[in-house]
Amino acid sequence: MRRVVIIGAGLTGLSAAYHLRQLRVEADVLERETRPGGACRTTSRNGFHFDLTGHLLHLARPESQKLLREIGIRNALRSHRRRAGIALAGCVTPYPIQINTYRLPREIRRDCLLGFIEAHLGKADSDTQPRNFLEWVLSRFGDGFARHFFIPYNRKLYCTDPAELTTEWVGRYVPRPDLADVVDGSLGLYRKRVGYNATFLYPREGGIQLLADAIAATFPPVRLSCAVRSLHLGAKEAVLESGEVVPWDALVMTAPLSHLAAMTADLPAAGRAAAARLRAVAVVNLNLGVRGPAPRREHWLYVPEERFPFYRVGIPSNHGAVAPPGCHTLSVEVSLPAGAATASGLRERCLEGLMELGLLRDAADVVTVDEVHLDPAYVIFDAARPEAVSTLRDAYRAAGVALAGRWAEWKYSTMEDALWDGATVARRLAG
Ligand SMILES: Cc1cc2nc3c(=O)[nH]c(=O)nc-3n(C[C@H](O)[C@H](O)[C@H](O)COP(=O)(O)OP(=O)(O)OC[C@H]3O[C@@H](n4cnc5c(N)ncnc54)[C@H](O)[C@@H]3O)c2cc1C
Repeated sequence: MRRVVIIGAGLTGLSAAYHLRQLRVEADVLERETRPGGACRTTSRNGFHFDLTGHLLHLARPESQKLLREIGIRNALRSHRRRAGIALAGCVTPYPIQINTYRLPREIRRDCLLGFIEAHLGKADSDTQPRNFLEWVLSRFGDGFARHFFIPYNRKLYCTDPAELTTEWVGRYVPRPDLADVVDGSLGLYRKRVGYNATFLYPREGGIQLLADAIAATFPPVRLSCAVRSLHLGAKEAVLESGEVVPWDALVMTAPLSHLAAMTADLPAAGRAAAARLRAVAVVNLNLGVRGPAPRREHWLYVPEERFPFYRVGIPSNHGAVAPPGCHTLSVEVSLPAGAATASGLRERCLEGLMELGLLRDAADVVTVDEVHLDPAYVIFDAARPEAVSTLRDAYRAAGVALAGRWAEWKYSTMEDALWDGATVARRLAG
């Protein structure tokens, strides 16, 4: 019988093992950490439950609901209607900004509206295609939205000039309203909820770990604390940190493509050159357990202005029972170039920024801090990415290695996508 090995027990690897089992193929799942879940893990301390970073389940496919029922957690999840905002110029207006400028200062509202109208009129005269994300934003939303939100927010998130980004990733993630919607939005008349994240599910108790644990419980135990040190494509072997050699006939890789290339002993030179062109940012997430009631009702806020170090602040206790009575939680996300060390004083600057935004009354109210580094966190979609990824994908496919999931495929995707990336690779392997 063929030996199938899966590296990584994040949602992609767990889903691959789950679906392989349904197709009567057993797989060995190797995971470096002490718990399954990958980026969707939760740590608990002093009565607080902190997801590594905020993880809300946005489901678009009916099969996903079926999967939740099969693993027995559908009723343990509660459905929420998004309450998200944008903190800008001392105001908070609902997300997405394109259809919600009405709570912003009049000057910003005017810039956004006028810019959108000019872009709208300009579109009719122009048949040139935008060459990058910056041009795309300017041509779709105009100068005002670009200047006040899209440029500073994306520069902060990707630590990159928006002119260096491509538009491959925007698809379902950036809502594209028409002129009437934008005008309605400037007057506070737009009422519909838009975007892939308009609703979400979240565990009634504890954090998002519930999902990974429930999938992992359906097949033989994941081999935890089992880090793969090197891969040998010719010999079809993985060598673990312990020195153990694990042979495979088929391998599913869900660890980041950049790490995979670094650990592959016999990767062809073209693959190594391609790996050197992959770019990403890391995220430092400060999970704060804070005394007192939550400062606002939103589930999360986007923070585009440059003077704040963070690009987003979540208030997870507004959608989950994740804090002890009388307390709430904040999740403060900061981007930095992949591989970079955290700047000194970052935590203090974050606390100051939270106080300026009215999200924290006093630093002394913070009773617990849990600092998480995700590296890589967001892949940078630049001009070099498509060819670099396809070169690597071909090299690994030739050696019987399937790349699956957000970081192995070097893309932007959600938990639901991870579940279906795992299912897809399982079906392919099982023939
Ligand atoms: C800041 C942030 C916020 C997000 N928020 C949301 C959200 O709200 N909703 C949503 O749907 N999605 C969200 N996502 C996306 C979501 O996290 C991913 O789509 C999903 O977790 C990808 O799962 P994965 O299994 O592909 O990767 P991972 O979860 O990274 O799993 C890979 C696994 O491989 C293991 N591994 C790595 N190297 C080795 C090795 N050498 N040996 C053994 N094991 C190894 C890792 O420990 C890990 O467990 C967010 C992502 C980020 C970065």
